[in-house]
Amino acid sequence: MSLRIDLHTHTVCSDGTLSPTELVERAHAAAVRVLALTDHDATDGLAEATRAASARGLTLIPGIEVSVTWQRQTVHIVGLGIDAANESMQHGLARLREFRGWRAQEIDRRLRKKNIRGAFEHVRANVKGAILSRTHFARFLVSQGYVNDMGQAFKQYLARGKAAHVPGQWATLEEAVSWINGAGGTAVIAHPARYKLTSGKLRRLLNEFKECGGRAIEVVSGSHAPQENAQFARIAGEHGLLGSLGSDYHGPENPWVDLGRLPALPDGCTPVWHEWGLEQQTN
Ligand code: AMP
Ligand code: MN
Ligand code: MN
Ligand code: MN
Repeated sequence: MSLRIDLHTHTVCSDGTLSPTELVERAHAAAVRVLALTDHDATDGLAEATRAASARGLTLIPGIEVSVTWQRQTVHIVGLGIDAANESMQHGLARLREFRGWRAQEIDRRLRKKNIRGAFEHVRANVKGAILSRTHFARFLVSQGYVNDMGQAFKQYLARGKAAHVPGQWATLEEAVSWINGAGGTAVIAHPARYKLTSGKLRRLLNEFKECGGRAIEVVSGSHAPQENAQFARIAGEHGLLGSLGSDYHGPENPWVDLGRLPALPDGCTPVWHEWGLEQQTN
């Protein structure tokens, strides 16, 4: 089904492979009318994406995906409708990017122990944006033939508990939500099914998130199975959270998710965009 809204995407300004203009062109071709760019811990792509969107009649929602450490686990909080010029948010994001720089050297050190050399130099030379991501290291491992695909790079080296994994020291949940709210945005828990939380721990996360001022959860995600969309629609309703919808698109080489291909938000779920005055455009 062709859907007209996508509120979670990436470009080369974080770990995606398209430029902001290319992303907008592809969204336009897929009949997406409302697009949020939500790069990890960086807002550098927003100005170009906004220009490209306005030239093509798309609505560009300025966004961010903030990395958070909650209960020693990484959780991603998307911010939608942010003012990218907000100073305290930018100050916080700069700290996360600084951690990314340190972590990249640490990943390199751990790969060297496995006799894999040159990772940091390769990543540095190839990265186009402001952040160094595990995705860039995964691409290095694939390109040098250490693994066959991205999934294997994570499974063998980069995922939690593996040889080159470095525990995150990201923002607290409270910081991330306050940066987003302070910048005039709406905070959204990204791809909630990915965290594999027990129902008790999920309830704790949702309650803390709401106490901090969080308002929405991604009900429909490119990384969810269909039954997980239904499950999180119910959970959003039970917790009084708005529902969001996003592909988490990183580029055309990701075969399992494309722009404009997500199912609609389940009935009964209040869309995060219901206050944005977009209803006529999105149906
Ligand atoms: P980082 O924020 O640098 O720790 O990197 C996290 C990013 O790695 C996520 O945003 C995904 O884009 C990517 N990622 C995580 N797990 C996988 C996986 N199993 N296969 C491919 N990409 C992954
Ligand atoms: Mn990513
Ligand atoms: Mn994410
Ligand atoms: Mn994402």
